[in-house]
Amino acid sequence: MGFDYNSLLMASGAAGAALCFTLMSSWLRQRTSPFLLTWALCIAVIVAAVIAFAALHVTSASVYAMIAGVLLVSAFSISYGGFTQFSTGRFAFRTVALLVIGTAAPIIVTNALGYDGLSYLLTNLMSGLVLFFCGYHYWTVRYESPGPITAIAVLHWMLVVTFLLCVIVLAIEAPLYFEERVLDTWAEGLNLMVAVIALSGIGGLFVTVHQERISRRHRDASLSDPLTGLNNRRALFERFPSGQVPQGCGLIVLDLDNFKSLNDEHGHAFGDAVLRSFATMIEENCREEDIAVRLGGEEFVLLLPESSLTEAIALAERIRGTMGRMTHSAEGQLVSCTVSAGVALAEKGQTSLDSLIRKADNALYLSKRSGRNRVSQTTSSAA
Ligand code: GH3
Ligand code: MG
Ligand code: MG
Repeated sequence: MGFDYNSLLMASGAAGAALCFTLMSSWLRQRTSPFLLTWALCIAVIVAAVIAFAALHVTSASVYAMIAGVLLVSAFSISYGGFTQFSTGRFAFRTVALLVIGTAAPIIVTNALGYDGLSYLLTNLMSGLVLFFCGYHYWTVRYESPGPITAIAVLHWMLVVTFLLCVIVLAIEAPLYFEERVLDTWAEGLNLMVAVIALSGIGGLFVTVHQERISRRHRDASLSDPLTGLNNRRALFERFPSGQVPQGCGLIVLDLDNFKSLNDEHGHAFGDAVLRSFATMIEENCREEDIAVRLGGEEFVLLLPESSLTEAIALAERIRGTMGRMTHSAEGQLVSCTVSAGVALAEKGQTSLDSLIRKADNALYLSKRSGRNRVSQTTSSAA
């Protein structure tokens, strides 16, 4: 086929070193994705394997084939560790150690017994298996960033195909004893070319996924309330870009009663704790499709899609009752805090989110005026 094995080796070594540098610098800029560092380590070990292959080519000493093989399967096992960090945040040391031992042992043993050809065949087979395993796992988590993660899985599998082609060619050409010319087969050349493309591609895609994670985190932070973790006002309005909610949407505005005096008496930190437990309680009382929002201060909103006024009032009553029974511990003293609510429903032709909140606010005002710790609904005159 006319390709030059040494040039391909040098190309893959250089691509690997450059990739290692890119991944490390990406990780250094924002140290939130340790899988980048693990992948950089994996590439560094691959570069070491490439050096061992070069030594094998120069000296024909089969010990270098063994060293290269062990380094290669270790690198791919480490890359599986990178996957575990990617998906769970933790490096699965034990599984990686088992993978390294399980894949390296047959390579070492067969080489030590003198079957250096078989050992080299096993290097390719084990590499293919571990990469298939990694690709499959990425495939299962592709929903996070479908484009880049699917491409990562496919690049793994492209490499798997070329490793398996090497296995077939080796089985035909030199099944037991190594012959240096097997390095010059079309399968080896293809494997190296695809390795340069796949490893650089995977590294670049990891950087993309890392950037997407960072921007998703920033976006989530901008849409949630840091104290309670609920949606904030902006998130509520972003859900309905047209400013209209579906007809039949219930809305409850909730406002804690006499919260200023509670803060004055027991301190701001205690007030914060009450806000947090109130937020948890309302979330526990909501359906999955309901949207709980901290509108600001001690004022909350619940948006209830496909609800009736009766259902919305029942939920507001349940929350009011639960809050009234809850006690909060302030330096040994048990303190309670009540909540008032106003309820409104988006009716035909009146589905503007702004006016729905205004209607519920008017109802809340009624609750406050009539003594607090109660639920009111909008009447046409109040709207
Ligand atoms: P009302 O029953 O009429 O609603 O009386 P209120 O005291 O609850 O209402 P007011 O609007 O006078 O006071 C609201 C208080 O909520 C004032 C402010 O100190 C407190 N507050 C607002 N945001 C926070 C917060 O994030 N943490 C704490 N601890 N307090 C807050
Ligand atoms: Mg209040
Ligand atoms: Mg208020």
